[in-house]
Amino acid sequence: MSNLVAIVGRPNVGKSTFFNRLIQKRQAIVDDTSGVTRDRHYGKSEWVGKEFTVIDTGGYVVGSDDTFEEEIRKQVELAIDEANVILFVVDNQAGLTDMDKEVGNLLRRTKKPTFLVVNKVDTNKNIHDTYEFYNLGIEKMHTISAMTGSGTGELLDDVVDCF
Ligand code: GDP
Ligand code: MG
Repeated sequence: MSNLVAIVGRPNVGKSTFFNRLIQKRQAIVDDTSGVTRDRHYGKSEWVGKEFTVIDTGGYVVGSDDTFEEEIRKQVELAIDEANVILFVVDNQAGLTDMDKEVGNLLRRTKKPTFLVVNKVDTNKNIHDTYEFYNLGIEKMHTISAMTGSGTGELLDDVVDCF
């Protein structure tokens, strides 16, 4: 597959909300071929005439924090292997967490275009300081609301420029 965009990040930051917005009414394809890929959804999307495939990760993991971390690590490594563009989602309302830092450490190894997506910035009023997220070492940062769609157009402009 070409033009593959992987959405990664710790649970509850809004990855699936953003994925659903990107694929809109198109059907997600659940890949359950193996343990590692069990937890991935694929969907088709399009922006300014450019088609791409989006992968949502981390949907159905249940278990301890250790299980979470192990699963997230696998998903990030898969994204580094196969994606053309990686979207690393964090939660502006929750702020920077240790698990975000772990994901950031894994992603720093890749030269693939990686965007830090600071989600849950629904209105100008509830923008918390985004400066702390620069500690993750990812220069390309966008603030969005996966819920309202705010900021997503600017992000997608930059994403499709990578293809
Ligand atoms: P995931 O675990 O990363 O896939 O996160 P989900 O997409 O399941 O979202 C987790 C929670 O955050 C849900 O309650 C969403 O409704 C909420 N959420 C997602 N995006 C936004 C957003 O842009 N703004 C706000 N306020 N809530 C959001
Ligand atoms: Mg999810």
